[in-house]
Order: sequence, then C-alpha cells, then structure tokens
Amino acid sequence: MSRRIEDVMAVAERRLGGVNQRLTSGRRALLAILSDTDRPLTLPEVLEANSALAQSSAYRNLVVLEEAGVVERVVTRDEFARYELTADLTGHHHHLVCSGCGRVEDLAATPSLERAVNSTVATVQRQRGFRVDDHRLDLIGMCADCA
Ligand SMILES: [Zn+2]
Ligand SMILES: [Zn+2]
Repeated sequence: MSRRIEDVMAVAERRLGGVNQRLTSGRRALLAILSDTDRPLTLPEVLEANSALAQSSAYRNLVVLEEAGVVERVVTRDEFARYELTADLTGHHHHLVCSGCGRVEDLAATPSLERAVNSTVATVQRQRGFRVDDHRLDLIGMCADCA
C-alpha cells in the first residue's frame, strides 16, 4: 500500500519531532522502502532493498520510527518481525499470512469486506457492551506457492 513519499516524509518529520528525534537520512531510506511495497517487510528484506543500510542502525531506526508512530510491527507466528507504515499513512487494510513460508501480503479493505466485518462488529458491540474503535483482520493459511 503506497502513498506519496513527500507526504510520508512530512508526517514522519513531525512525529519524530514529537519524540525528540530527527528525520535522518537512514530513517528516510527506511521510509522510502516501506512506502514502496505492497506488503510488510522483514529486516532482511529491508536490507535487501537498499544495500547501503547497515543491519544494526536499520534495526534501531525501525524501533525509533515505531516509537514515533510512523511504522508498526506486524506480528505473526514465525520469528521474523515485519514492518509497515502505520495504517493512517497507508490506508486501512488487512493481511494474508502464510503459515508455510511466513510471507505476509496486504489484503485491500474492499467495501464489501468492510461491510461484512462491520456488521459482525455491530453485533459484538451490542452483545458484549464493548465499544469497538478499530479492527484488525489477518487471514492465516497457505499462499499459492506453499499450497
Ligand atoms: Zn507461503
Ligand atoms: Zn477492515
């Protein structure tokens, strides 16, 4: 899911400022990679996308970007953390998570999918007295290659 890179950088600069951090060239490079992908990336995949990045500083910068609320970690069942821009930057979407190879793909939040989810959410809100503000939906299974 991509968005204009200038917008992403402007928001990142503001949010980093909020946690007393700056938008350094290393952080810019990470945001450029994460803006230009249609799925969450592991650290090795991030490093593969830009051979100029060093693993230790890339990892530290991802942690800072996460603290600043620009990047979030997608947690799956394998040992690899995956990173993507926060949903307010990329747009609301879901994930397809492969249990075979661990690959995670974005799944667009189509109007029909969101209608179905929101109708279930409305029922749960009524039955449980729980005010739902947001939802996440990851579909776990086998990708075409693994199946
Ligand atoms: Zn797979
Ligand atoms: Zn949704």
